[in-house]
This record gives sequence, structure tokens and C-alpha cells, in this order.
Amino acid sequence: MSKKDFYEILGVNKGVSEEELKKAYRKLAMKYHPDKNPGNKEAEEQFKEISHAYDVLSNPQKRAAYDQYGHAGVDPSAGAGGGFGGAGFGDVFGDIFGDIFGGGRGQSRAQPQRGSDLRYSLEISLEEAVHGTTKKISFPNLSSCEPCHGSGAQKGSEKTTCSTCNGHGIVRMQQGFFSVQQTCPNCRGQGQVIKNPCPSCHGQGRVQKTKNLSVKIPAGVDNGDRIRLAGEGEAGEQGSPAGDLYVEMRVKPHAIFKRDGNDLHCELPIDFATACLGGELEIPTLDGQVKLKIPAETQSNKAFRLRGKGVKSLRGSSVGDLLCHVTVETPVNLNSDQRELLKKFQESLGDGRKHSPQSSGWFDNVKRFFNDLAS
Ligand SMILES: [Zn+2]
Ligand SMILES: [Zn+2]
Repeated sequence: MSKKDFYEILGVNKGVSEEELKKAYRKLAMKYHPDKNPGNKEAEEQFKEISHAYDVLSNPQKRAAYDQYGHAGVDPSAGAGGGFGGAGFGDVFGDIFGDIFGGGRGQSRAQPQRGSDLRYSLEISLEEAVHGTTKKISFPNLSSCEPCHGSGAQKGSEKTTCSTCNGHGIVRMQQGFFSVQQTCPNCRGQGQVIKNPCPSCHGQGRVQKTKNLSVKIPAGVDNGDRIRLAGEGEAGEQGSPAGDLYVEMRVKPHAIFKRDGNDLHCELPIDFATACLGGELEIPTLDGQVKLKIPAETQSNKAFRLRGKGVKSLRGSSVGDLLCHVTVETPVNLNSDQRELLKKFQESLGDGRKHSPQSSGWFDNVKRFFNDLAS
């Protein structure tokens, strides 16, 4: 075995994290794996080196010894003898890759699984989003088992050190050249076993229950905002930490208001006479009615901005505005008298140019358009 630096072999720095180390190993192992390099002696040697370096560095005790004493610190015979001959690659690598690359349970000494994070979609009204509220929610959840306090061990009994792996969570096997490490099958890598499982949760430490919570929703939340409730997700296995709960806001559409950031928008239909003569209208806001002065000669599509009548920002102190978008409504269901009045009114306007600058201008443009086509 060469005395090359193990960190160098794996192409990592001395301070490398377990996670990064595993990544580096995985990359190199894939590259030099004998299955990928049939008959390539060099690759085979490389692979041996990589595997040996990883075997040492992935073990905290061995790594500490190596860091302190170098190659003398780790068992000099480890990985020395044997050749490739005997052990079938399939078996050996099945174990290595199954263990190290297998989904989820990659760590050599597995902790009981942390509980999963959960997402809860909470429907609220616009008023609730704007003013804030407290909502009660309930949902099925894996909760910590009460009789065993989440430990999974029957009351009065305790977890005991796994005799298969002596609490290491991993077992090592010498297979030819390789020292193969594998998650302990007895304790599933946890180093401890439960002799007398709690009958309520069958040793899981958690049970399916309906969870009831009060969720405080701050004023100003918007559609899609998420509130994180730490530790309110699924309970962990055998007393390990619970996951988090993310409550996602679904703001129901409002009959009057549409929200855009901190601004609110609403339609404001006004009758023809008010549009002409001006007047005063009662406008709804989320804080009650307010009076709005409509100036004479107000046109459709004009927007009136009511400052500070929007939404107070969730972060910071700014407040949005309410924008009222005018639509002038054409009168309908007129009786003959009213129609007569309108006809008289229309006659009084003459050619209309003075009273309808918009449409006059439009007709001028249309005329010009057709003239240009003709010429
Ligand atoms: Zn229990
Ligand atoms: Zn074990």
C-alpha cells in the first residue's frame, strides 16, 4: 500500500465534512470502479487506494488517529493482504454501494430518523390576511408516543447497546482486500436496540394522532406566504427531533378587492350623471366606509388613489393604497320620457366636438387613416 496522504487520494482538504468526504469518495469510486474498468490494473489499484482512504477517513476514530499519527495511527495491516481474486465483486460492491449510496440511510452510524416536515395549506379571507388572525387547525400526524415518551421502549425498560455492533451502528467484514463496512442489520445502524418495545407504538416512539394547533397569523400575510412552526411536524423516530410544520397561506378571492403587493384595487362603477356633474360616493375599504369626492367630468378608467387604505406591510411599516378604477355606466331601462330628455340633451350639444374631445379626436384619426389609405 502506498503511503500517499489519504486526504490527497480523495482530493479533499483536511477539514472536509463527512458529507463532502462521502461525495468525493463517491465520485472517485464511480470513476475507478472495477466494473467500469474491466482488466485495467491501474484503475483497480486506484480503487483500492480510494476505498482504503475512505475507510479510514469515514470512521471518526480512525480519522482522528490518522490526523494525529499519520499512517502509523491506523491499523497498518488493514487493507494490506489479499487480492481481488476470491470475493465476487457483485457481492462486495452491492454491500458498499447499497450502504453508502443507498437512499437516505447513508451515514455510517445512523441516528433514528428525524421527523418529516409537513405542509399545511390554510385558506383564509383577505380580511384575515390583512388584519391578522388566529386559526385553529387539525390534521393527522405522527405524534410522540405518550406511554414511552417517544423512546419506543416499554415503561421501566431501556434501550440497550446492540450486541452485534457493540453500539457502533456499523459492522465490518474483511472480504479479501477490502474491509467492508455495513450498517448493522440488528439495530439498523442506531447502535442501540429495544429489548421490550412499547406496546402502544411497537417501538417506533410515535403514533398516528390528530394534532390540534392554534396558528397565529400576522397581519399582512399574502397568498403563498409560509409560516414555520418549528417542531410541530412529524415526531421523530424513538425520541429524535420532530420535523417542522409549514403553514401555507391560501387567500380566498374577495368579492370587491384584488390585492397587488400592499395595494388593493377595486372597481368603481359610477352613473352617467355623477360622472358628468361630480358628486360624493361611499367607498368600501377594509376598515369601513369612506367618502370619496368624484370631480365633474370624470371619465371611465380613471383611478382614484386612497392613500394608506391598502395593506400594512408584513415586514416594515409601509402601508399600501386603495385604487378605485372608475367605470362610467350607461343608463339602461329608460322610459320614453327619459329617452326624449336625452334626445333633447344630445341636440343641445350641437356637433359635440366641444363636449366630447375624446371621441372627436378619435374620429379625426379615423378620417386621417382612411384618407391615407386612399392617397
Ligand atoms: Zn411508545
Ligand atoms: Zn447494531
